[in-house]
Amino acid sequence: MKQRHPLALIVHGGAWDIPEECVETNRAGMLKALASGWQILEKGGTAVDAVEHAVMSMEDDETFDAGRGSFLNAAGEIELDASIMNGKTFRAGAVAAVQTVVNPISVARVIMEKSDDILLVGMGAARFAREHKLKMCGMDDLIIEREITRWRSRQTAQKPGSGKDSFRRKRGDTVGAVALDVAGTIVAGTSTGGIPNKYPGRVGDTPLIGCGTYADNEVGGVSATGWGEGIMKVVLAKSVIDAMARSGGDPTEAAKEGIALLKKKAGGLGGVIAVSREGKVGHAYSTPRMARAFVTSEMKSPIVLV
Ligand code: ASP
Repeated sequence: MKQRHPLALIVHGGAWDIPEECVETNRAGMLKALASGWQILEKGGTAVDAVEHAVMSMEDDETFDAGRGSFLNAAGEIELDASIMNGKTFRAGAVAAVQTVVNPISVARVIMEKSDDILLVGMGAARFAREHKLKMCGMDDLIIEREITRWRSRQTAQKPGSGKDSFRRKRGDTVGAVALDVAGTIVAGTSTGGIPNKYPGRVGDTPLIGCGTYADNEVGGVSATGWGEGIMKVVLAKSVIDAMARSGGDPTEAAKEGIALLKKKAGGLGGVIAVSREGKVGHAYSTPRMARAFVTSEMKSPIVLV
């Protein structure tokens, strides 16, 4: 009989200075995302489906900076980045600075599965989504009042594109998920609206394979969040995978190593979640808080931490 692999799923809703009054909505969003992915894994479904659904749940949830409710760029528009990688097929898909799509993670998935390309940007990504009959929306449909208010206050307070310092200290509710399914396939996915008031066309680490997202069935899977410009410089997700390979598969140690590297080399803050090929989950962050939740087939009930 073929051996069944342990199941594991971990999700995050970003690493930042989450204020006390946002803790409950973060917890609820984490649990909902976890449940939507876990019910797929439990029924013998694939890690790709589990990650896509968990991330979609957070993209649809205004609490997070992904899909609906994302930060606005300096022009007052939403531009979304997302990526997904399958550790078995070693294929990946990603979108950057895409507009008018409801779930960027789904566009990334279809690129991964149906295209020879990995990363489509802007109008090309939207055109691909339309051609593949994915859910489209108007330019303003994902914008919410909270973000209009934030955008207005930034116009007087900050130069466009100078999100770096505020990020390093605080905000960032990017979302991500990593899953291990019954067939032993590991998939990682990440989705974001980027940083508040970003320069139009600015792309962070999230859609870059190896930076925001990485999966390799021989080692594990990782999703990262935090200061994108720093994460890109240390190729954070792949660095965590390499650390996991070196440490014999310990995702917590590897996650800590990655976060220390981000700080040491780039002076950046952030968080990572990881799953090892044995089904162990790990997480680490250097920001005041990080929203995350996880469950494995070894656990009696899920754990949510904010
Ligand atoms: N890493 C994302 C970016 O720089 C932001 C985040 O993780 O919150 O676009």
